[in-house]
Amino acid sequence: MTRYDVDYSSLPEHMRQGASDYIEHSQRPGSFLLAVLQNDLVESFAHADSINIEAMHTWTMWLNNEAPGECWGSKAKVDAWLDLCAICRRRPGEMTIVLDGRVSGLCGTCYERGKDDEEAARPTEDEE
Ligand SMILES: [Zn+2]
Repeated sequence: MTRYDVDYSSLPEHMRQGASDYIEHSQRPGSFLLAVLQNDLVESFAHADSINIEAMHTWTMWLNNEAPGECWGSKAKVDAWLDLCAICRRRPGEMTIVLDGRVSGLCGTCYERGKDDEEAARPTEDEE
């Protein structure tokens, strides 16, 4: 059971983790999966390995029947999905977190909560 109740079992075995990471956690997929999700036929074939070329019909069935409709179909939809918070799946709010020059995968709320957890886990001077 996954957050989005997606069945990945029809996909080529070596692609299931990447597909799941993208849908469940908005992790950027590799060039083949990115092109498939963006609905770019030519790029999809250009980046497909031999297993994925054989599986192109499977990919179209999986997108139509399993993948959430908002997560694929155009570059804009894929970009919007990649922006979702990896934890709470909210759209980025008023706050964009930049860590080491990279935009964090977390929304401001989850980022602040993570910092609070770190501070709570850190022993205070009194406890030493
Ligand atoms: Zn969040």
